[in-house]
Amino acid sequence: MLAPGLSWVDLLFLGRPHAVATVVVRGSGGLALIDPGPTSCLGTLDLGLQAQGLRLSDVSDLLLTHIHLDHAGATGTLVRRHPHIRVVVHERGAPHMADPAKLLASATRLYGNRMDELWGEFAAVPEKNMTVVTGGERIDAGGRTFEIAYTPGHASHHVSYFDRSSGVAFVGDTGGVCIDGGYILPPTPPPDIDIDAWQESVARVEAWSPATIFMTHFGPVNNPRTHLQTLMQNLDTIAGLVRARLSEPGTDEEQSRRFAEDLEREFRRHMTDAQLASYRAAAPPELVWLGLARYWRKRLAGSW
Ligand SMILES: [Zn+2]
Repeated sequence: MLAPGLSWVDLLFLGRPHAVATVVVRGSGGLALIDPGPTSCLGTLDLGLQAQGLRLSDVSDLLLTHIHLDHAGATGTLVRRHPHIRVVVHERGAPHMADPAKLLASATRLYGNRMDELWGEFAAVPEKNMTVVTGGERIDAGGRTFEIAYTPGHASHHVSYFDRSSGVAFVGDTGGVCIDGGYILPPTPPPDIDIDAWQESVARVEAWSPATIFMTHFGPVNNPRTHLQTLMQNLDTIAGLVRARLSEPGTDEEQSRRFAEDLEREFRRHMTDAQLASYRAAAPPELVWLGLARYWRKRLAGSW
């Protein structure tokens, strides 16, 4: 539990503990979830809610940090089952929730025939169910008021939610991946990694002076300032490794493989084998490479 009425469920993604979390917000104003996770984990979410004396049919609001499948995959399925549910999403993410064809095509390029096993269904969300935000708003959900900040960097449509009454900021992937006290990893999948934007987003989160930040992968951190500083240092380090490998001769595949070895070496300085396995599930090295390689290619081509 984070505070009275504020808790989370471990979705046991791919059978792994501490890989993906859904935040549960309950109060007189209803039951809100921040990032319901993928449809493949709906059964686990249901059981997790039941263990807290709650039911999926009680959910009134889904607050999305962003629309990636590990965070928002179950949204449309839940809305179809419970058409009263309100979905809060950034304006750049909303069109893809209404019509996920492009999102799914790009995810299929990354995950191929593992789409179903990993995520399950991704159903469209009717526009009338969506509350579209840009950052700067306040919204009431689950008996609390959340301040919303636009926090791109990991995704161009990422927002974070701050509950001032508990001092907890729900930062999705903006706060990185940190499993069981392991390496603080910036997840950098394609297509819209932006290091400068990420830096500004971290400053926006810090401006709230949160006592705690909550990461989807995985859980609460009670020293946000140190954590976020380390995250940005690690982003610099990993982006540097990608840039170095990109400048060497060889095919994309060879460069990607050499980078995976670099990343493994960087990880092993900080983590045990057991911890490493969870990181591969939450942020596969191939995707870390693809997102940052794309970032550098765009930068170096001067299109920014
Ligand atoms: Zn994620």
